[in-house]
Amino acid sequence: MNYVSTRDKENKVSSSFAIAHGISEEGGLFLPEGIPALSKEDFNKLKDFSYTERAKYILKYFLTDFSEEEIDKCVNGAYIGTFDNDLPAPISKLGEKMNILELWHGPTCAFKDLALQILPYFLTISAKKIYNGKKSVILVATSGDTGKAALEGFKDVEGTEMVVFYPQNGVSDMQKLQMSSQEGNNVHVCAIKGNFDDAQNGVKKIFTDNEFKKLLAENNMEFSSANSINWGRLCPQIVYYISAYVDMLNNGEDLENGFNVCVPTGNFGNILAAYYAKKMGVPINKLICASNKNKVLTDFINTGVYDRNRDFYLTSSPSMDILISSNLERLLYLLSNENDAYVNSLQKSLSECGKYSVNDEIKEKIQNEFYGGFCDDAETANTIKDIFESFGYLIDTHTAVAVNVYQKYSEATNDERPCLIVSTASPYKFAGDVLKAIGKSADGDKFKVLDDLSLATSTPIPKPIEKLKNAKVRFTEVYSKEDMYTAVKASLNLM
Ligand SMILES: *Cc1c(COP(=O)(O)O)cnc(C)c1O
Repeated sequence: MNYVSTRDKENKVSSSFAIAHGISEEGGLFLPEGIPALSKEDFNKLKDFSYTERAKYILKYFLTDFSEEEIDKCVNGAYIGTFDNDLPAPISKLGEKMNILELWHGPTCAFKDLALQILPYFLTISAKKIYNGKKSVILVATSGDTGKAALEGFKDVEGTEMVVFYPQNGVSDMQKLQMSSQEGNNVHVCAIKGNFDDAQNGVKKIFTDNEFKKLLAENNMEFSSANSINWGRLCPQIVYYISAYVDMLNNGEDLENGFNVCVPTGNFGNILAAYYAKKMGVPINKLICASNKNKVLTDFINTGVYDRNRDFYLTSSPSMDILISSNLERLLYLLSNENDAYVNSLQKSLSECGKYSVNDEIKEKIQNEFYGGFCDDAETANTIKDIFESFGYLIDTHTAVAVNVYQKYSEATNDERPCLIVSTASPYKFAGDVLKAIGKSADGDKFKVLDDLSLATSTPIPKPIEKLKNAKVRFTEVYSKEDMYTAVKASLNLM
């Protein structure tokens, strides 16, 4: 299977090239030329498989220049012995309709582990094929969870160096400590004065800077990316939607008329993976795109106008505080019938004017497939409280945004189908806000807050978070966004 760029479909590459490079030369995103379809027999087979077997079965369709042995090695390394009970994506049922897909049982307690545990394996194999022996330099911009998950996946992975940028005031205390205490000899963590979009733009700029690439080449290095623009991130996310579908079948859910999926969305990676799963044959009806107060996607789905010229809010769901959702570019490419020139014009308008509007045909297609909704921090807190009081089940702030928007969707449409609601983080990653939401005070230091939450809800603190009580801070540097070049050079000893 070939991969093409959203901005130049004549640019055809292999899956390992797409993964090793992360982004295409002209700034586009790689995606597979076609979407494989699974048959009823395929789904029947998958029913009896473990998660790792399902992952191997599905990834083979996409990574056609990986040998079977290589795929086995990637999947086993990523998913055996790294997630609670070796179950990366279990479902908890709440009431009649809500199936909560818990994607936070990995080493950093957020859904990004499902992709970032496997990406280092993909990347080292790809880099061997493509760069023969050069070191891969991975730059990451993070709104909190990606950074830690990437650091944890890549720490001490031979042939890689990683530099992570996070917005100084845009992540939770726990996220900050998780990153600044990261161990590993090949990892570097920098706070920047700015928001997530500043970090992401800075990384994109360095990434496509020819001077900088030359400097790296002279030092036997090459850029790669672990951000969700990398196909190697997106591809393993498709697996858990397919896996969840067969689990729901196994659980005896009535899926005759399909089911809906609701995803708390930031960069549009996770929900795009659900869209791919749908195109592969999973009977998904609506893709419900849930946003917080930074509701640029809600507005886009409802009006066809994407406009980032607006106030930026820091919310209680910081991993969704994003105004430029990079992965939307892949959807636009697919919905415009692979019209790379059209995608180019939209992206040009976005970078020059901060906005674009899609034509009526695409707008209609988007509204057929997606429903967009949002909620603010007060509604998020109320939802956490409601769900805890009704079901004794604790959710984090991001998952609460999804539950809230799902409830709005149900009310607006009377759609009775079951819903798969994606739970993207452990409540303990956002313990202060969660504790306040259930009506307790969250005074005291961040570790007391963990204990208080555990006591108040009779739920255990996840081990990776408990462990932070003894963590030592290694990284304290804060850079202005103009100094990101300097930060990368310093981290790589290229000064
Ligand atoms: C990254 C993240 C999101 C947003 O996912 P996207 O793929 O960027 O849309 C939502 N919730 C949590 C907890 C996250 O870490």
